[in-house]
Amino acid sequence: MTQLQLLLVAGTHGNEINGIWLFEAWEKSLSLINNHGIKICKVIGNPEAKKAGKRYIHNDLNRSFLEESFTSINSPDFERIRANELIKLYGKEGENPCQIALDFHTTTASMGSCLVVYGRRYADLALASLIQYKLGLPIYLHESDKDQTGFLVESWPCGLVIEIGPVGQGLLNAKIISQTKLIVENLLDQIQQVKKLNLFFPEKLIIHRHIKSIDFPRDDEGNINALVHPLRQSKDWQLLKKDDELFYQLNGEIIKFEENEPFIPVFINEAAYMEKNIAMSFTKRELWIVKNEWKKSLIDLINQE
Ligand SMILES: [Zn+2]
Repeated sequence: MTQLQLLLVAGTHGNEINGIWLFEAWEKSLSLINNHGIKICKVIGNPEAKKAGKRYIHNDLNRSFLEESFTSINSPDFERIRANELIKLYGKEGENPCQIALDFHTTTASMGSCLVVYGRRYADLALASLIQYKLGLPIYLHESDKDQTGFLVESWPCGLVIEIGPVGQGLLNAKIISQTKLIVENLLDQIQQVKKLNLFFPEKLIIHRHIKSIDFPRDDEGNINALVHPLRQSKDWQLLKKDDELFYQLNGEIIKFEENEPFIPVFINEAAYMEKNIAMSFTKRELWIVKNEWKKSLIDLINQE
């Protein structure tokens, strides 16, 4: 078996530049972050988009890791080619095989720092539980959304997205960079602890399970005709219940949340999701037991050599 190697990705979205900046600083000064002797491949996900100051060139790279993309090498879609390339270089069967991928993103929404887990892979949940226990970060479990697929981390045996915000696209922000550094250090530290079998898994973890996303209200021509209500703006992770203000129209009319079941919204008014027709996503907060098979899955992955 191959030696444990981590893939750290920043700039999967070319205009999320804080992680890129940190990686470049780390490259110049290797002692900036203690890697505990773990082998690390640091990579800029979408360097072309970064150069262009854009989220992507043709398509969202973080929706381009689709099964069919692996065969369509002749595709003119820059991001599909890049997805193939990253798998060829760093995939578990790649030239430089990595078992765990950590993908660093930023959000314009007021979400603070959080972890995003895709689906319910055991090793992902175990690693997320360790970081939540250590840093108290919320976990957003993204699943059951057929319109949003092809995420980078899903192409590795274990992988998490780290979302840090709020920060504008293309802006450097000291607080965001410090947060990114703190989370990188803690992830490396926790992985090292698992490697040493020095284990402190929590008994439970809190999950925010994705239920659905909602669009902005639109007129007959499809133009947005109501804005996120000022009372809802920046209220990520805060309970939204029946009759709460949701959207606001310039004539003063308020569109309220009318469902009986309350939700916890995230990615409220995220700049990058305008094009995806997402005004915010709804989650349910749940307390899950950390299962032994999750721990085993992570321990086996990290100690497979
Ligand atoms: Zn991103």
